Amino acid sequence: LKSEFISNVSHELKTPLSIISMFGEMLALGRVRGPEQATEYADVIWRESVRLARLIDNVLDFAKIERGVDVYEFAEGDVGEVVARAVELSTHRLANAQMTIALDVAPDLPAVRLDGNALTLAVLNLIDNAIKYAADGKRIEVKVGVAGRAVTIAVTDFGPGIEADEHARIFERFYRAKAVRLRPIRGSGIGLALVEHIARAHGGKVAVTSQPGSGATFTITIPAAPPA
Ligand code: ADP
Repeated sequence: LKSEFISNVSHELKTPLSIISMFGEMLALGRVRGPEQATEYADVIWRESVRLARLIDNVLDFAKIERGVDVYEFAEGDVGEVVARAVELSTHRLANAQMTIALDVAPDLPAVRLDGNALTLAVLNLIDNAIKYAADGKRIEVKVGVAGRAVTIAVTDFGPGIEADEHARIFERFYRAKAVRLRPIRGSGIGLALVEHIARAHGGKVAVTSQPGSGATFTITIPAAPPA
């Protein structure tokens, strides 16, 4: 599994890097039709470097967690804002995949003790997966709501979904579902392990429900901060 992981990660890192290198070379050699095309190339380089940075963040955070380093810094925060930021950061990738996203944040959410960067990364991972595996479904719904004394973040897609016997396994590190192993979708199998770690660090959990063939919903549940 470890060597498969290393080869998967290297593959994931190589693709954006070769795109950056190719478009950078064209710009440097002046192989552009005009300023508009130059801007377009620069935009590709920018987008792919953001993607590369995110992949590296994922691997580094995962490595820290594996070493047992405490990576979280908690403060009272607004889950709605965190989720809105993750949605905002995904705009480019969504447009590229010709997908739309609908964000619905319930009013009067209770305050939560959270690590903003970690929680953003968790939601980004769920949205990234929906883009990667469920682009056919065309849309993603993100709902922030309240369940009892907890705040929930639900990311729903309308793609192929996940077979029931794999619901627990996909949260294991390095595990990739049988359906995707047959298709050329890049991935290293650490995204959901990271999401689960982040949810647990917040005293919460993550779960999946799915009707194979009609999509999947990943729900992160985080308990509200005790009243001061
Ligand atoms: P990666 O995407 O790098 O493979 P993850 O840990 O994020 O790793 O996901 C593990 C596996 O769960 C994926 O390989 C895929 O098989 C499955 N999966 C995750 N999200 C979805 C989704 N939205 N729809 C269908 N399958 C999914």
